[in-house]
Parts: sequence; structure tokens; C-alpha cells
Amino acid sequence: MAKQLRAEILCVGTEILLGNITNTNARDLSVYLSELGINVFYQTVVGDNPERLTEAVALAKTRADIIITTGGLGPTCDDLTKQVLAKAFGLEMVFHEEIAEEMKRYFRETLGVTTMTENNFQQAELPAGCTIFHNEWGTAPGCAFEVDGVHVLMLPGPPRECNAMFKACAMPYLRKLSDEIIVSHSLRIVGSGESSVEAKLRDMMNELTNPTLAPYAKEGEVQLRVTAKAKTEAECETMMKPVLDRVCGILGDIVYGMDVESLEEVVFKLLKEKQLTIATAESCTGGLIAKRLTDLRGSSEVFRGGAVTYATDTKTSVLGVPAALIAEHGVVSGEVVREMAVHAREVFGADLAVATTGLAGPDGDGKNPVGTVFVALATDKDVYVSHIASGMGRARVRILGSSCALDMTRRYLTGLPVVVDYYKK
Ligand code: ATP
Ligand code: MG
Repeated sequence: MAKQLRAEILCVGTEILLGNITNTNARDLSVYLSELGINVFYQTVVGDNPERLTEAVALAKTRADIIITTGGLGPTCDDLTKQVLAKAFGLEMVFHEEIAEEMKRYFRETLGVTTMTENNFQQAELPAGCTIFHNEWGTAPGCAFEVDGVHVLMLPGPPRECNAMFKACAMPYLRKLSDEIIVSHSLRIVGSGESSVEAKLRDMMNELTNPTLAPYAKEGEVQLRVTAKAKTEAECETMMKPVLDRVCGILGDIVYGMDVESLEEVVFKLLKEKQLTIATAESCTGGLIAKRLTDLRGSSEVFRGGAVTYATDTKTSVLGVPAALIAEHGVVSGEVVREMAVHAREVFGADLAVATTGLAGPDGDGKNPVGTVFVALATDKDVYVSHIASGMGRARVRILGSSCALDMTRRYLTGLPVVVDYYKK
């Protein structure tokens, strides 16, 4: 098996250390590198200081095959990344006439400036023998070189330029370092927390090296990425198949899709396929279910409409839930959510309707713990009611409540048991 490449991301900029900006470059590059199957072992941040940058590079050299820097490629005196890195690897700096010309053209044509200050030409100096990453998105070019088996790639600081240059220049460069390709699949899981998913798969994750299996927590969901590295795509697929089967076998029907965009997209496609429509009646989710459905192009084919009936009396005045029923059971109850769904189905003339009522907090109702959400799905024959304990946090209540409603719909449409132990396993 090919050697696993280890990368270190080295972001240069005092403003990151001061907390003036968030280090989004490190985050974005980490995502891209993991997609390439390159392990990121360290993310380092260092200020615009040549001594400390030199120290950081010396350390990175000892523990990484690939060092990717961002920032400090520009024309000002604090932009010293190229000089420091070149020196650290014993390379001279060479002036590139064609880069100076490119910069003049960028100033003239994109920025409408005909005179460039002298310090701009510093950007045309690059370490001897490097591969130049031309900057079509700004002025400072990036570059890459290899010394003693360590690859150094330098990218500009502005995130727009950093991202674009990574994709256009660094990605092909890094792909060439390996004669193997990377293929990955992403399994999407709803209704279970990351820790419980991980607990079920921990042994498997630890023992796997190729393919690898890694979890990512997403709002109210878990994503599992299976990644294989081999000579051909077919080989990757063959290697991943037993892992995917085993994971699906362990997790069962909480896996709602592979390589899909979102839970709402899966529900939308199922509704479309079955030519069914849906409506919503939302209290604690505040319209999030409707939002998630209407985020999708073509949602008017399946989404009839929804009501956010937040105040208790609107559940009666808008939906027609009997006031006496609310008084008897309390507004946060299975009985009320059931009626909300049934009435929403009629009010909006939809085949299905989902409803939510819950306690977003911070105040309780003296009966249910904060975070309690009741979710219902009404169909032409039945009404299903789920109860979730989402825990604290208003955003979390909305996300988990809306995911539960969408997932109950998915389960109903695929013939699975509709009510399960959401977020308890
Ligand atoms: P320029 O030519 O714009 O000077 P540069 O390569 O010299 O580019 P820096 O001067 O280090 O880059 O940073 C330019 C700007 O890019 C910063 O002011 C900041 O807004 C943004 N930036 C730099 N590094 C990061 C980072 N790691 N994450 C997010 N944004 C960053
Ligand atoms: Mg700069």
C-alpha cells in the first residue's frame, strides 16, 4: 500500500492570532485535503514574524510530507512567507519577468490602475525551481517546490484566492504525488447522535486503514465518510462495498441515503415519485420544516403550504384544534400535535401533513422538560406521533424537531416503521 501522506497547514497572519479574523483557510484546506485522502496532522498559526515563522517551518519539516502555507504572499513588508520558506529550504529567490507582466496586466485590466508601486514587484520573486501557481483571482502568485522529499505549497491569504488557487493549482499538484486515486461515499444518518453512532462503529473505524471510515457531526445528523484509495475507481468501489454494507447492517434504517444532499431532498424526491403533497403546521420549529422543503427547487410540486401557529390560540383559530383539547392536555402534548397535523392536512388540502409542538425554552411549562418536542405525521389513514427530548438550545429544538418530522415522512413513504426512538439510541 502506498505511503499515507501527512500534511501540515501553516497559516501566516498576526490578525488570526489576535482573533481579528477566523482561520477559515485552515478549515477549508483541511476539508479538501481529506477529500484527497491526505492526512492533516497539524494546523499551525504563526504571526507575521520571520523568526517564529522559521521555527514553525523547522518543526513542520520534521513531521509533514506536505506543508501548505496561506497568507503573506502580498506586496507589503509583513508579507514574508516566500522569503522565509525559501531560506528554510536553502533556495534562492528568483525574479520572474513574466509574473511582473501578469501583475501589470491585472492592475491595468482588472483594477484599472496603470502604475504599480515598486513593492508590488516583490511578488514576482519566487523560490528557484518552483512550480508557479498563477493567480487569476488576485495579484500574488502562489508556488510549490520539493526539497528532500518535503513538498511546500504556498497559497495567498484572502480566502477567495486561497480556495480558488487550491482547487485550480494545488489539487492537481497533490494528485500527482500519488499514482492512486481517491473515491469516497458519504452515508447520511438521522435520528441518532454522533457519539452513539461512533460507539457502534468504533472498533471498525479503528481497524480500518484503507478504506477509512470517519464520522462528521452535522446539525441533528451524522455523516459517515468512507474513503478508499486505489489504482482505479472500480478497485476503490470494490474495497468500499463490504464496509458500506457492514455499516448499513449495523446502523439499519437510520441511514437515510448515500451521497445525497439532504434529508429534505430525499423526502422531496419520494413525495414526487409517489405524487403526494405535504403541508406543515409548526409551533416550536418556527417554520423550519417549510423552509427546508421550500429551499428545494421544484418544491411547489409537493409542498402545499404551512402555518406557523406559535401562540396557543392560533392553533385553534388558524388550524381548528379544539380549545378544550388544548386545555385538557396542555399545548405541548401528543394529543395536540396529532390534531394540528390532522387539521393542517385538511386546511391545506394535502395528502400528508406534519406538525410540531414543543418547549424551546429557556422557560419550562412545569410539565415537560425544556427540549421536549412532539411531532406528528397525518396521512389519509393514520396519525403517527413521536416524542423527542432534544435537550437545551432553541436552535437545536428547531433542527431536531424539523428533522424528526421529515424523517417520519421518509419512513412512512418507504414503508418503514414511522415512529422510532429518536435521538435516544
Ligand atoms: P494580499 O496580497 O492580500 O496581501 P497575502 O497572501 O499577503 O495577500 P495576507 O496579507 O496574509 O495574505 O492576508 C490577506 C487577507 O486575507 C487578510 O487580511 C485576511 O482578511 C485574509 N486571510 C489571511 N489569512 C487567512 C486565513 N487563514 N483565514 C481566513 N482569512 C485569511
Ligand atoms: Mg498581505
